[in-house]
Amino acid sequence: MNKIDIVIPCFNESKCVELIYNALKDLFSTELKAYEWSVLYIDDGSQDDTLERIVKLAGMDGSNVRYISFARNFGKESAIYAGLENADGDYVALMDADLQHPPHLLVEMLHAIEVEGYDCATARRVNREKESKIRNFFSNAFYHTINWATGMKLAPGMTDYRLMKKQIADAIVSMREHERFIKGIYSWIGFKSKWVEYENVERADGDSKWNYKSLWNYAKTGIIAFAVSPLRAVIYFGFLVIGISFIYAVRLFLMSISGARPWQDTTTIILLLLFLGGVIILLLGVIGEYLARIYMEVKNRPIYIAKEKKLDK
Ligand code: UDP
Ligand code: MG
Repeated sequence: MNKIDIVIPCFNESKCVELIYNALKDLFSTELKAYEWSVLYIDDGSQDDTLERIVKLAGMDGSNVRYISFARNFGKESAIYAGLENADGDYVALMDADLQHPPHLLVEMLHAIEVEGYDCATARRVNREKESKIRNFFSNAFYHTINWATGMKLAPGMTDYRLMKKQIADAIVSMREHERFIKGIYSWIGFKSKWVEYENVERADGDSKWNYKSLWNYAKTGIIAFAVSPLRAVIYFGFLVIGISFIYAVRLFLMSISGARPWQDTTTIILLLLFLGGVIILLLGVIGEYLARIYMEVKNRPIYIAKEKKLDK
């Protein structure tokens, strides 16, 4: 009997802990009866009673619930890492706690792997109408930019809801970088993946943990963790600016010898100073972004710190 390990990162998901467990239980006692299953909750430093609820589920007789609880909030990507590192089923599924990743999709995902011969299946949300237009716009812009800059093929609406063979989970865990961007990692490791589409659903309970600031940081990490083209682009931009100022200097020189305009022009100098100052700051900023990340990687800190766990059954 094939075993599926379901990894669920939770950050302040109090009510969702049981909701998703029951939804999975329903699924595995009907359509997916042929599979053994277990849930691995990763409590990402929740401040509400999420952990208590998980512990309660795990403490029940013959429980198939295991968990790791972080010492603080390390972020979803770290929670995913901890989950994949400790999953041991033949297949590993990764899904959100809030039921926005419909458990029922697992049926189609399993079919893709076992019958159609894929290595994994990734869910893709096709309808985002309920989300704001601005968010949609930025989301599309992000995917276009990252694909353009890295040559990866990420799709708008792509989620990190995925069912994969254990081998893929191991491949992901072997990437020990700290700046983790799971969608990029999915694309980087390769393997044959099937897109499984679904309609967007509202959260079962609570609020999204994302705001524009965290989404912006997420997008930036995604691009910088996987692309060196911003570094290169800046070099070309530098050449361009030097070229423009050279042409401008020649023009001023010609104007001054033809007597059209006197050589001294303080306004021009001020403008140039401002412009070049801006360019230099921009350059430093880009370099700083990479440097900061190199610094963090070099420190080689653990990706998460567990405070409490139950991994045996
Ligand atoms: N999550 C997490 N750590 C965080 C933020 C979120 O483990 O710091 C989990 C959260 O509990 C949920 C999943 O990641 O299971 C997706 O979060 P959310 O629903 O807030 O994101 P959205 O669906 O709005 O993209
Ligand atoms: Mg959600």
